[in-house]
Amino acid sequence: MTGIKVLVSGCCGRVGREVVKMVLNDPELELVGAIDGLNVGKDIGSQIGVESTGISIRNDLADTLMASQAQVMVDFSTPAAVMGNIRTALKVGVHAVVGTTGFSPADLEELRSLSESSGANVLVAPNFAIGALLMMRFAAIAAQYMPQVEIIELHHDQKLDAPSGTAIKTAEMIMAARGEKTGIDIGEEKIQGVRGGEMGGIHLHSVRLPGFIAHQEVIFGGVGQTLVIRHDSISRESFMPGVALAVKKIIDRPGLTYGLDQILF
Ligand code: NAP
Repeated sequence: MTGIKVLVSGCCGRVGREVVKMVLNDPELELVGAIDGLNVGKDIGSQIGVESTGISIRNDLADTLMASQAQVMVDFSTPAAVMGNIRTALKVGVHAVVGTTGFSPADLEELRSLSESSGANVLVAPNFAIGALLMMRFAAIAAQYMPQVEIIELHHDQKLDAPSGTAIKTAEMIMAARGEKTGIDIGEEKIQGVRGGEMGGIHLHSVRLPGFIAHQEVIFGGVGQTLVIRHDSISRESFMPGVALAVKKIIDRPGLTYGLDQILF
């Protein structure tokens, strides 16, 4: 079996498991490593309900990256772990495709500079679902004509960060598209925070409940009309075509790429 050699970091997580399945089923990719804090020593196949893969789950990322000769690390771990994981991958010359969220602007700057100095590439995408990218793109177009907007993102109750990376990226794209800040006077908040968080005059609201996976509404308001653009990821498989595309393209994209839209459109 030959193909791009892929190591999955966070392989036992909700998304990591789907990534492992996707890599095993894609003839252009080869699974060579699986990292997680859970189930160390077990075959990753036993954790995702497939036959033995010959790949044991390990928790020593640096050693596994080198021993497996991985070319690309895919990381869906945790906001607390991800920066350390990417630093480790870049240090040993392995490209990183990252879905984990929770990056600050300073983190992204650090990744840009580490990637340039190491010669290994990084792609960070707040959302790998193609429908979500279209939602963001349509929102940026709508913002040129209807600048007053609020964002509601809804996720499962285990999500560790808020707002979602997708909501932040959407707000950034709207801000760039509509130009000047067009905030609305929020009036008196009888309960603190009831109008949500604010970014460049855009109010963001984060809902966390069991039953959701990843959803977002971008609501525009104009005189006598509203426009709602909504995307729903109803299964974590929705992220996989985007992850596969990123793994196949990352080797030829020097430096930091932020957002799958950079390679999709
Ligand atoms: P999850 O179920 O909590 O999975 C995270 C996994 O990472 C857990 O198995 C965890 O193990 C493991 N882990 C912890 N520390 C680690 C380390 N140092 N190295 C490697 N693995 C480690 O979370 P999830 O729902 O799969 O989501 C993962 C991330 O992806 C989150 O940040 C989420 O917001 C993001 N996400 C992004 C997209 C996108 O399209 N970009 C889509 C969905 C989710 P332990 O249980 O032992 O800690």
